[in-house]
Amino acid sequence: MARQIKSPDIEKNNFNIPYFSILGVLFIVILFTILWRPLNLDRTVYVPLTPQVETTVNDNSHSIDDDGIVEIVNGKAATVTESSDVPEDEIVKDELDDIVDDKDNSVQYTIVRGDTLHDILIRYNVNRNDIYQLTTKFKQLANLRIGQQISWTTDDNHNLQTFSWTISSNNIRIYEKSGDKFVESSETAEVVPQDIVIKGDIKTNFVADARKSGLTSNEIGIITRALQWRLDFRRLQVGDKFSVALTREMHGKNLSNSQLLGVRIKSGTKDYYAILADDGKYYDISGNSLSQSFFRYPLATKARVSSGFNPRRLHPVTGQIAPHNGVDFAVSRGTPVLSVGNGEVVIAKYSGSAGNYIAIRHGRQYMTTYMHLDKILVKPGQQVKQGDKIGLSGNTGRSTGPHLHFELHINNKPVNPLTASLPISEGLTGKSKKAFLSKVKSISSQLNF
Ligand SMILES: [Zn+2]
Repeated sequence: MARQIKSPDIEKNNFNIPYFSILGVLFIVILFTILWRPLNLDRTVYVPLTPQVETTVNDNSHSIDDDGIVEIVNGKAATVTESSDVPEDEIVKDELDDIVDDKDNSVQYTIVRGDTLHDILIRYNVNRNDIYQLTTKFKQLANLRIGQQISWTTDDNHNLQTFSWTISSNNIRIYEKSGDKFVESSETAEVVPQDIVIKGDIKTNFVADARKSGLTSNEIGIITRALQWRLDFRRLQVGDKFSVALTREMHGKNLSNSQLLGVRIKSGTKDYYAILADDGKYYDISGNSLSQSFFRYPLATKARVSSGFNPRRLHPVTGQIAPHNGVDFAVSRGTPVLSVGNGEVVIAKYSGSAGNYIAIRHGRQYMTTYMHLDKILVKPGQQVKQGDKIGLSGNTGRSTGPHLHFELHINNKPVNPLTASLPISEGLTGKSKKAFLSKVKSISSQLNF
């Protein structure tokens, strides 16, 4: 049973490197260091060609050597990635963004598998300190269940005002801000659920017509998010129809929660459905997922990350925070760049520090950007599929070495594309599919026009 452990081969340790080789290596290293510094300083000072261009000292020494970027701030030879790959023009938001995402200071959310309260609130831009206060003081909030509803209100600066958690229809916990802390109370008053179906026609645009028919902003938001991968709501035409089945829980005269059971949108001859399953997610009437998957990398093969996502990166000269809103991949010029998901090209042009860059909108909540490209292979307005070759990587704009700068935005906020939680597209199978299909029968019959 006892196996003898082989003793390490002592002979192997008997190699003998002459001392002069070590000295030789040291000499080369020292020489290299002396020569490197001034070279480096030269490169970090950027003289703008035109005065209207950002006049900050450039710090874009993206891998002069390919050995990773030093982010020291104590002056001198610090090499840092570009201060900002911020393109000159803003990505235009549309009306849906304004109505659904921005102007709403109250959000209702249904818990789905894998959610944590912290992640949800971060995704919705809630003040981090408030999230910390709430989740550390009330540990019970870690017990959110799939299908439960939470809702919250914020002020215009994203500070959390009230947070409510519906444990069951007659047990609602409320957390209200007082000073900079939160106070818990619970409401056990009778909540009366009401099943309703709301129908309407498109006369102007979906948001306006849905509002007119009696849907709240929250409900409209749930619908547009559920169908974001299947349907471009801006393309709906006059005469298209929608039908929505909901359970609204009334607390006296106030709407405390609503659950979207199913929605059908008829656009021309096509029908789009989103039906709620027991896991809290929406599927089409055959039980197929309504979300789509993303690639982590916009490249066919894995590449070395030369500079990571860093929202608090310090500028080497000014000491100011100069966020690095994306990830840099060290790839040689001409490497094919792939779209990480299905979407629509919203920008494809040359733009200052970003160089040749592309922005793709995926559904309603997701956007990706690809910068410093050598070549752009798509046009604005073009629909792309996951894996489509959209460009070739390069070294354009403010970049001193070939690399690809890649960003992922969720709800218009940059997040770390290597760690962000991304939608998974898995359809229902087995028992849960069976249960779902029988639910579809009863709900879809209510969604007739
Ligand atoms: Zn970068």
